[in-house]
Amino acid sequence: MPNKIKCTVTECQYNSAVECGAPMIQVERNNSGSASNSDQTKCETFKPKHM
Ligand code: SF4
Repeated sequence: MPNKIKCTVTECQYNSAVECGAPMIQVERNNSGSASNSDQTKCETFKPKHM
């Protein structure tokens, strides 16, 4: 069964109906050497729509 990623960032070009359609996403630490909560992570695959 394929993994599904629910994502509410609907302004991303990979987003369709609050679901990520990218074949793979890359998630990185967000200005942190060692993340301790989800605020310290970010989706690097995000691309704005219409660009
Ligand atoms: S690429 Fe990242 S930001 Fe864009 S829809 Fe997928 S999970 Fe959300």
